[in-house]
This record gives sequence, C-alpha cells and structure tokens, in this order.
Amino acid sequence: MQRVSSVIIIGAGLGGLACAIECRRQGLNVLLLLYQMQVHIVVGAGIQIPPNGSRILQRFGLLPKISDRATVVERIDVRRYEDGQMLCSKEQTLSSIENYGAPWFVIHRQDYHGILLEEATRLGAAIRLGASVKNILTDRDTVVLEDGTELTANAIIGADGIWSVTREILLERSAPPIETGDLAYRATFTRADLEALKDSRVDELCAQNSVTLWMGPNKHVVFYPLRNGAEFNMVLLRPDDLPEGVKTAHGELGEMRATFEGWDPVLLKLISCIPSVLKWKLLHHEELQTWTKKHVALLGDACHPTLPYQAQGAAMAVEDGAVLGVLLGKLKSAPDSTGARLHSSGDSTDSVTSMLKIYEDQRKQRTTLNVQGALRNRWFYHMVDGEEQQNRDRFLRAVTDWEAVKSPYTWADAQYNRDLLGYDSIAPAEHAFDSWFLENS
Ligand SMILES: Cc1cc2nc3c(=O)[nH]c(=O)nc-3n(C[C@H](O)[C@H](O)[C@H](O)COP(=O)(O)OP(=O)(O)OC[C@H]3O[C@@H](n4cnc5c(N)ncnc54)[C@H](O)[C@@H]3O)c2cc1C
Repeated sequence: MQRVSSVIIIGAGLGGLACAIECRRQGLNVLLLLYQMQVHIVVGAGIQIPPNGSRILQRFGLLPKISDRATVVERIDVRRYEDGQMLCSKEQTLSSIENYGAPWFVIHRQDYHGILLEEATRLGAAIRLGASVKNILTDRDTVVLEDGTELTANAIIGADGIWSVTREILLERSAPPIETGDLAYRATFTRADLEALKDSRVDELCAQNSVTLWMGPNKHVVFYPLRNGAEFNMVLLRPDDLPEGVKTAHGELGEMRATFEGWDPVLLKLISCIPSVLKWKLLHHEELQTWTKKHVALLGDACHPTLPYQAQGAAMAVEDGAVLGVLLGKLKSAPDSTGARLHSSGDSTDSVTSMLKIYEDQRKQRTTLNVQGALRNRWFYHMVDGEEQQNRDRFLRAVTDWEAVKSPYTWADAQYNRDLLGYDSIAPAEHAFDSWFLENS
C-alpha cells in the first residue's frame, strides 16, 4: 500500500498549473503532461482575474509578480451600444479589496501563464512535453500515452481543457461540449495604433484603467488595457455563424465591421484598427453527473466550460486546482492513525477516492452556478431595444450604492457578487477534510 505522494496533471493551462503549484506547496510529487512540444502555447490575449481568482494568487504569494504585469481594474464602465452613453460606472479598486478581499486585475494571458508556470517549476513540478494521453487505466492509476509509455501516480487530474480526453475516459462515453449560439472575435491593439486615430474620446478611453463594456441587441463588446496600457484587448461577442463543428476560423474584417454597424462611433474607430481577427466558437457543457472516478478527477474547462460572460472560467479552474492540492496535501500530512483508510488502496472507498469526492462536492455547485450566471448575463447584456432594455438601463443609471443592490439582474446584485467574487474556496475545503478525518479516524 502506498501513501498519497504523487499526482499526474494532464494539461498545463491555468487550472493545471494552479493545481501543480498547490500540490507542490503541499509536498506532493507532480508531473504535468502536455501534448504540445512547447509549454508556452497560449491562445487569446487578455484575461480578467476577478478577486476570487486573485485570492488564490495571494495564497501562492504571487500577487507582487502579477501586479508588476497586470493592471488593477479601477472601474467597470457599461455603455449603450449605439452612442456609447454611460449606463453605469462601477468603482472597483477599493470595492474589490474591501468587499471581496482581493484586487481585480486584467493581464495578458501569456504573462499570467508564464508566472504560474515559473512558480510551478520553481517549486519542483516536472513537465513532460509531447505527452499525448491515449488512455487512463483507472484500476491501475495509470496514464497511457500515445507512444505506449505508462505513467503511474496516486491521483490523476484531467486539466485538459474544453476538449478533454480525460472527461470521455472518465465518463466512458463521448461528451463533447455544446454550442452556446455565440461566438467571439478576439483582437488586440497597440497604444500607438489607437493614438494614431487622434480622437479625444479614444484617448480618454485609453487613459483609463477600466473594463469597458458596450451592451447591444444580441451582442456586446469588452475592452481593457494590457501591459500598463501599452496594449489593449478587445473581445466582440455575437451570434455564432460558424458551421457546426468548426471551433475557430480567421475572421473577415469587413464582416466583423458590418456586424457592428450603427454602434458607438468610438467603438467603430477602435474596430477600424483591428488588422486581423480570430473567430472563436463559444461552447459550454451541461453539468456532468460526476467529475471523478476512483483516483481520477477533472478540473476547469474539462468539467465546467462556460460562456465567458462572468469572466470566471479561469478563476474557477484556478480555484479547483488549489482546492484539489489542499485536500490531497492534507491527506498526505494527516496522522497515520487510521491505517489503511488513509492510504491509496484503489478500492472505491479508499482515502484518495474520498478526497476527490470531497473536491467534487466542494466545487460542483459553485461552478454550475457560474455556468448559469454566464447565461443570465447573456440575457442581461444582449437585450434588444424595447421595454425590457429600457427598464434595465433605467435601473443601471439609478444605482448609487452597488453594495446595497438587490436585483434579479445577478450582474448587479450585491449578495450574488459577494458570493461569487468574495468566496474563499480554501477554508470550506479544509473544514470538509477535517470533518471527514474525524469520521474516519
Ligand atoms: C473569449 C474568452 C474570454 C475569456 N475571458 C476570461 C476571463 O476574462 N477570465 C476568466 O477567468 N476566464 C476567461 N475565459 C475562460 C478561460 O479562458 C478558461 O476557462 C480557462 O483558460 C480554462 O483553463 P483550463 O486550465 O481548465 O483549460 P485550458 O486553459 O484550456 O488548458 C488545457 C490544457 O490541457 C492541454 N491538453 C489538452 N488535451 C491534452 C491531452 N490529451 N494531453 C495533454 N495535455 C492536453 C492543453 O494543451 C492546455 O495546456 C475566457 C474564455 C474565452 C473563450
């Protein structure tokens, strides 16, 4: 019998790396498997790190490094699509820290990924490149690679993203993600591109450390600075017209511009600078019946991919990774008075299986709420002009104290945001471990 000491993590995205960092902090041996030959392949440019995500980075001691590269979001500005009229401007710098316990950042994905990767390797996580997973033998805690290599560990974590192979092996069926009906155009600009426009409203927009959101019928646009305002990120969301099964495609600039015809002239000026664009089909998944099987568990987009309309997919993946690491670490360090039950014996009631079940219990409801919240935000952002939209806009203009808002618009509801953004994922997981330990010792 073997005490839990080793973890294989399939996938080195943000969730897999967070899991690797926490596992190493807990003294577990970690092997990250990546099917590419390079670890630095990161898709997309900008990403928001909401306070619940930066709380985990704070735990890892990484906030100074993140702060060096990221911008603290000072405001979230919501504008009407056709004229850019401000519907509301939510202060964030202070409120994120006071109400949610950590800052809200925007950062280049490469910088974020690089910081987590550097930390995982500094702590001693091993990485195997070109390791494409073919199968997992759940009865033998073994990962089989395409080249036939077999790798064994006490726990195997599928952090392999939206097209997860681990998910299908674990569920023993095909379980592809589902189309949401929306797609994203993703683009970046340099400050020089935007300054060349010589437009005072564009300059004003670039001078702010804000996330700006234009809401319109069936579409919305998100814009924010990266790398201290040297670059800017834009994501344009609209109904999906990619053929079924096509995940990404190069976008036609003319088509993209036509899609946003009649929108705020400032936004159109920004769009006119986009030199090339990628069309990205947005997918999600219904709640899986389970995330675990014996000593195998899923995390992040592998088990709860979502529309990005709460800016939470990666934050949830990072929370998942940290919770898994904490639970496995607590199991590793627990006094050995419980004998075989604290060991990894491979039967369905052993301790590693129990840890992964506790992890699933801790995480499933929260991440399902996130998927649903993102869908609710689609309704909120994409209202067509009419009474419903007028009510929404009137409501947003009237808010004076965001911390007192009670509203069916979850985007604005103070308690909803405290639960989403102020959540400490670690303390309840530790508590769940302690209860389990008491019962089993
Ligand atoms: C337009 C858009 C905007 C978004 N904005 C935000 C935002 O602002 N904030 C936020 O928190 N989230 C955002 N998200 C969501 C976020 O990008 C994802 O939820 C997050 O990256 C998921 O992380 P992950 O580690 O679970 O998966 P991934 O980042 O997809 O990583 C999966 C890893 O697994 C590897 N892999 C895959 N298959 C295998 C295999 N068979 N063997 C070995 N390795 C494998 C991949 O190479 C990759 O390294 C956005 C998403 C989109 C589409």
